[in-house]
Amino acid sequence: MSLKARVDSCRCGHECQLRTSWTPSNPGRRFYGCKIEKDKGGCNYFKWVDDEFPSQANRVIWGLLNRVKAFEEERARARTRWKKLASITVLMLIIWVCYCVVSH
Ligand SMILES: [Zn+2]
Repeated sequence: MSLKARVDSCRCGHECQLRTSWTPSNPGRRFYGCKIEKDKGGCNYFKWVDDEFPSQANRVIWGLLNRVKAFEEERARARTRWKKLASITVLMLIIWVCYCVVSH
């Protein structure tokens, strides 16, 4: 049976949206939820699709997610440093060219 055939309907009468939890206790675990946000009038329907993962699997997944997040933050900092360095280099080049033109 395909996943599409098993889609639940929420109390609003809509076909539920398949979502993925990213909380520390259930990282990567899929669930069905109302596709309308609760604060916009949704019914707050919730039902797990996947069985609960072993606690060791949750710890491993959560640890890997944190490592990916730390790597992405470091990459963003490196990009910012590179942009500053490139800007300074271009500015120095412009100043040098102006100096050469004026001094000749
Ligand atoms: Zn609903």
